[in-house]
Amino acid sequence: MATATLNLDSSVQYLKGVGPARAELLAKLGLHTVGDLLFHFPRSYDDLSDVRGIGALTGGILQTVHGEIVEMEGKTLPDGRQILSIVIADPQGKCVEGVWFNQVYHASQHRFGQRVAFSGKPKWYRDHWQMNHPRVEILEGKDPEPANKIIPVYPLTENLYPDKLRESIRQALSLTAEQVIEILPAALLGRRKFPPLPGALWDVHFPENLAPGLQARRRFIYEEFLILQIALAARRRELRDRRRAPKLPVDEVIDAHIRRLYPFALTNDQDKAVAALRRDLKQDRPMQRLLQADVGAGKTAVAVYGLLAAVANKHQAALMAPTEVLARQHWDTLEQYLAKSRVRRLLLTGSLSTKVRKQALEDIRTGNIDLVVGTQALVQEDVEFARLGLVVIDEQHKFGVNQRARIKKLGVDPHYLVMTATPIPRTVALTVFGDLDTSIIRQLPPGRQKVVTRWVTEAQRETTYEHIRDQAKAGRQAYIVCPLVAESETLDLKAAKTMHAELTAGVFTDLRVGLLHGRLSDDAKKRVMQDYRAGKLDVLVTTVVIEVGVDVPNATLMVIEHAERFGLSQLHQLRGRITRGNVSGECDVFAGTSTEDARQRLKLFTRISDGFALAEEDAKLRGLGEFFGTRQHGVADLRFGDLIADRDLLETARDDAIALVSEDAGLKKPEHAALKRAVLDRYGKTLDLATIG
Ligand code: ADP
Ligand code: MG
Repeated sequence: MATATLNLDSSVQYLKGVGPARAELLAKLGLHTVGDLLFHFPRSYDDLSDVRGIGALTGGILQTVHGEIVEMEGKTLPDGRQILSIVIADPQGKCVEGVWFNQVYHASQHRFGQRVAFSGKPKWYRDHWQMNHPRVEILEGKDPEPANKIIPVYPLTENLYPDKLRESIRQALSLTAEQVIEILPAALLGRRKFPPLPGALWDVHFPENLAPGLQARRRFIYEEFLILQIALAARRRELRDRRRAPKLPVDEVIDAHIRRLYPFALTNDQDKAVAALRRDLKQDRPMQRLLQADVGAGKTAVAVYGLLAAVANKHQAALMAPTEVLARQHWDTLEQYLAKSRVRRLLLTGSLSTKVRKQALEDIRTGNIDLVVGTQALVQEDVEFARLGLVVIDEQHKFGVNQRARIKKLGVDPHYLVMTATPIPRTVALTVFGDLDTSIIRQLPPGRQKVVTRWVTEAQRETTYEHIRDQAKAGRQAYIVCPLVAESETLDLKAAKTMHAELTAGVFTDLRVGLLHGRLSDDAKKRVMQDYRAGKLDVLVTTVVIEVGVDVPNATLMVIEHAERFGLSQLHQLRGRITRGNVSGECDVFAGTSTEDARQRLKLFTRISDGFALAEEDAKLRGLGEFFGTRQHGVADLRFGDLIADRDLLETARDDAIALVSEDAGLKKPEHAALKRAVLDRYGKTLDLATIG
């Protein structure tokens, strides 16, 4: 194939200078086609435009100096490493020494008296400036002002030399940059002052100055966000405009009736959330609302309002939890609220006998049941509702984004309320749950206690145990949480069991110590929790099964083992278990050998007790992967943009996407055709978008 006919899908091997060996190196970076190279963006730029006299150098920042070579020396160190030293001097006789390890081949290109430029970060060594591995440019025979002062720095792989990669990318740009189809409509480019293609691609890779390089990069980040936000806006419209849900109005009589069931008055924030709920439920469009609040802030209480609103309107309601333990917990909570109500309700778990289950499904189908609590099996299996009005999903992030799309396919169109106790930064909420309206409860119910969190060492373990014993004698209860990464990891499971065995036989012989973990049978779990709640156990050795929802006011002490193995949001969820009583909680965390990352996490954890602040800090520190745990979020899987660092662009893109979709629903205008194709290519499957608009 002649280079003239190269296109974006051509193999990199068709580029000059790229043979099988280099192609293999490029493949390691995921670069297979010429088009891939165009979108392999620099990690950063080396700015060589800061040219100074040797006398004006500052240590530690990238600068360029010009001079004549006055010394060259190569030598071999005792350990076999070879050193090349080249000294240049300016007309005043001031010197800079360039030093290279194992790169003596440089020497062959240079001679005494040659005029060169060194670019690097100087450091003062004894009596002169030194640069480690400076970039060298031979100035003789060139313009005094060499053209390219901004050098792209690419993600590399071993044995792939930066200069070679730059050369391949430059070649790819020359041959094919014109072929890349512009996705962004001219109007948007103009309004947001982003450079159009193909110039933007050139600017990202080889900008004349830093500013256009960075602006071009922003353009591509924006483009990525815009595609995502259009997909989310389209889905939102689809749900709003095409789907119909039953109207579930709540008048003053129903409102008063529901409120009578609470043993407390709702907080202001809860009231606001309820008001939003009432507004949504009286529409015939399915509500899509996210209820965000820190652990224990009273989400469930708000959800109950919605459930009862549906039932009052002669519709069925369902509450879904991510685990059976949680489903049961919600059930118990509901039982408290509904003690005096005639709502026909049932808990649908995997442990029902076939016969009971069959009857339950029958009752749900015929409408003999108003309210069902269960796990996601509720909507995944063949559970048919007579007239489902509202689904409340707890801890939605655990289900993943795609799960919600799946639920929609059931053909029923209930209202949706999604609750999450994971305090998600606003920017992320916009993106991951971009098609949801959001209510936030920041205020905790009155009398809620603080937790004092300490990071303790093994040497203090005795003290921690002593304290638990003292407090237990005074009637308090404690959790001891052991890590359990996945149920299949027998090692971790042993940890909880071993801990239980050791404590029972050792320091806590005089206390009542229970064991709760995910591998117990449903009945066993239920029994342990009941005993613990009833105060028949002093200490509960457990795993993250108690992460959310477990609500035992008398439990005010917590020990977390191997805290370095938990994510920050998980730690915070755990700690939320001991804020329910009327004395402040105490949480002691032990950490094994920890990475720097884990140390920072634990420091944040001990310092900050507000879940939202914690989430923001954590996201700033580490990006989002950490925050969400290892689970993949298809939607948040971005190539160029960072939801936290680039949040201004994310919000701009969201505004533009919403405007675009409302002005041209379906993106039918010719100037939006390319954009539409890009959205469907990227998100059509993930978000179940048959079409846009
Ligand atoms: P979340 O679901 O956000 O974890 P819950 O709704 O389960 O929070 O409430 C946590 C605890 O606080 C429960 O024991 C509940 O009874 C209590 N609670 C909720 N709202 C209030 C309120 N407004 N006043 C007093 N207690 C409340
Ligand atoms: Mg709860």
